[in-house]
Amino acid sequence: MQSQIKQIHQQLTSKQISCVDLVQQRLDLLKQNSHGSVNALLDSYALERAQAVDEKIAKGESIGLLEGIPFGVKDVFMLQGTKTTASSDFLKQYKSAYTASAIQKLLDAGAIPIVKENCDSFGHGSSNENTIFGPVSNAHDPALVAGGSSGGSAVNVAKDYTVFSIGGDTGGSVRQPAGYNQVYGLKPTYGRISRYGLMAYASSTDCVGPLAKSVEDIRIVLNAISGKDVKDQTTYESTEIAEDFLEKASGIKTVGYFKNLLENDAMEPSIKADFMSALEKIKAQGIEVKALDFLDSDTLVSTYYILAMAETASNLSRLDGTNYGNRINAENLIESYAVTRSENFSEETKRRIVGGNQVLSQGFSDDIYLKSLAIRDKLSADFEGFFAQVDLILSPVTPGLPPKIGDSLKDPMAMYLSDAFTVGFSLGQLPTLTVPQGTVTGIQITAAKTDDERVLQFAHLLEETL
Ligand code: GLN
Repeated sequence: MQSQIKQIHQQLTSKQISCVDLVQQRLDLLKQNSHGSVNALLDSYALERAQAVDEKIAKGESIGLLEGIPFGVKDVFMLQGTKTTASSDFLKQYKSAYTASAIQKLLDAGAIPIVKENCDSFGHGSSNENTIFGPVSNAHDPALVAGGSSGGSAVNVAKDYTVFSIGGDTGGSVRQPAGYNQVYGLKPTYGRISRYGLMAYASSTDCVGPLAKSVEDIRIVLNAISGKDVKDQTTYESTEIAEDFLEKASGIKTVGYFKNLLENDAMEPSIKADFMSALEKIKAQGIEVKALDFLDSDTLVSTYYILAMAETASNLSRLDGTNYGNRINAENLIESYAVTRSENFSEETKRRIVGGNQVLSQGFSDDIYLKSLAIRDKLSADFEGFFAQVDLILSPVTPGLPPKIGDSLKDPMAMYLSDAFTVGFSLGQLPTLTVPQGTVTGIQITAAKTDDERVLQFAHLLEETL
């Protein structure tokens, strides 16, 4: 099975390359890159770890599969001793006091973090333009956006600057940039990977997710970072997914797709046509394809944004300049909070905090916030019904093509609507993978809760079918 991780592992153990050279090469590529994907390079830290791997190999000791593999970290994950800025003015100088559980597991496996990656500030965005470090441009056409919020991570993987990257996905932030840059990106079942040390955006949908160039690499990284964590009470114990399990897709008999979402006027015709022809190829494999009727995109997007804004307004209330980040002093304490928050948050983040506090406030919460929670319950019941009829659900990743840099900033509403296909699966807390096949922005594969292995199985089948 194709795997960049295994290939590099083999090169390291057979001494075809040294780990220091490997890491230095990738650092050089990151340094020279003009896509804006880097917030900070971890050069001396990474090279020191690479040196230790080389010493082990020189002594004839065996190394683990992930040992010495350079990876990227979205700049919303704590990595002790490094800055974690969330691409914001607020935390521009903030140094992580501890390390996120998922990142710690990778460190324990010997993988080497080489870069903190550009992203939308606090995960707020779908284009990676909401950042103090400048927009990230698409790996394949620099006039276009990289997608967001994990745009830097997707570009680094697409350009081979990192072997894999760790992103965060609240409403599509791993899957959508993966689609825009044509790589794999997984949002696992909510709770499969610990969120401890991932800066909270919307806690009820926040997920840690790997981006990589092959299904096999997604599997390897997922296995390494999954599992119960006492520091995140929403985590659950999962079993390792074996490599040969991916070859056994024969149990997948029926897949569904959302006919109503494809019929929406906002759907880009070429994406729709490519998606329908991908379904035909799947049918030709003897798999039944069923049309499903889901909530409409306006309802999905509104429900997600109401809940995400409400949760982010609560989560970000801790940032007032007292305990974290950049404080601006004014005449009195209340003024200091106000000035600190209005000067340090971006326009997009402020829009979400104001919107979130509005939907939570007395007089509005029943009609807006509680109604959204009720719709979310209905959506979960719908998914249960769907998965009684089909093994998997397939969808395009996005209704449209990646926009030009600058366009999303002029029209936030259009940006929110571009998330129509990703947010529903987030609200349902379902495992969903973007595969870089089928349409120009890829296809999503979704399974029932905790069936992440099925998603990978089908992705492997699609590698050979599309
Ligand atoms: N684009 C969505 C939003 O801005 C999703 C972002 C994310 O998953 N972090 O909320």
